[in-house]
Amino acid sequence: MLKFGQITVVATIALLTIGVIDFFFEISPILYVTIFLLWLLVVALGSFTMRWQFFTSTITKGSQTKKQVAITFDDGPNTAYTPQILKLLKPYNAKATFFCIGKHIEANPEIVQQIVAEGHTIGNHSYSHATNFGFFRKKRTVQELSKTDTLIEKITGAKNTLFRPPYGVTNPSIAKALTETNHTVIGWNVRSYDTVIKKPTKVLNRLKKRISPGSIILLHDTHSRCPEIVERLLQFLKKEGYEAVTIETLLTKN
Ligand SMILES: [Zn+2]
Repeated sequence: MLKFGQITVVATIALLTIGVIDFFFEISPILYVTIFLLWLLVVALGSFTMRWQFFTSTITKGSQTKKQVAITFDDGPNTAYTPQILKLLKPYNAKATFFCIGKHIEANPEIVQQIVAEGHTIGNHSYSHATNFGFFRKKRTVQELSKTDTLIEKITGAKNTLFRPPYGVTNPSIAKALTETNHTVIGWNVRSYDTVIKKPTKVLNRLKKRISPGSIILLHDTHSRCPEIVERLLQFLKKEGYEAVTIETLLTKN
C-alpha cells in the first residue's frame, strides 16, 4: 500500500528530474504544478482513507476464518442511547466496542463502568473530538490521547491500548503522536453512514450487503435511530450465524 514517505520521495524525484531536464529544454511550469497537485491529492485522500495505512498502520478488519464481526460505536457514551444499546446487546450475548470521547467519559463515568461490566470494550476516540483535531500538533494530540486513557483507567481500572481517530483522519502529526502513545489504531471496513442516512432500513441494507467474516462495523451511539439499527442488525447477524465480538476477540488468533 502507498505510504506518505514513499509518495513524497517519488514526487520530489519527479520534480528534481524535471528541474534538470528544464535546464536543457524548456518545460512548462504547468508540469511542476500538476505534480505538486497530484501529490497533494494523494496525501489528502490518504488522510481520509484509513485502509490505505498511508501515515500509520491501521487495523480495518479481522481474520476472515471465523464468522465473527466487531460492532463499534463512536462518539459516546451518550446518556440517552448508550444504555438502550447495552440493553439490546444483552439478550443476543453480543459484545461490542465503544470508542468514547474523553469529555463524555468524564461526564458519564457510570455508563463507562456499565459498558465494561457487561463485557464490552472501551476505546479512545480523543478527549475533545474537536473539528480541527486533524490540525493539532503532535504534543496536543498526545495530550488528548493520554487524558482520555487516564480517564478510562481511573474508571475501569484497565489500561487502554485502542485508538480510533476522530473523523477517521490520520496525518503526520497524529502518526508521530502514535509512535509515542503506542496505541493500536482501529478503523473499519463497513461504514454505516448512520448519522447521515436518515432511514434505518437504508442503513441496514447497506450493512447487510457489506458484512462478511472479520468485518469491523462503524456505528454511532449518539442518535435516536441507533437502537432500531442495532436491534435489526443483531437479528440479521443471528440469522446469518455471525457472532458479535469485541475488537480484542476479533483480533485474537485461533
Ligand atoms: Zn467520532
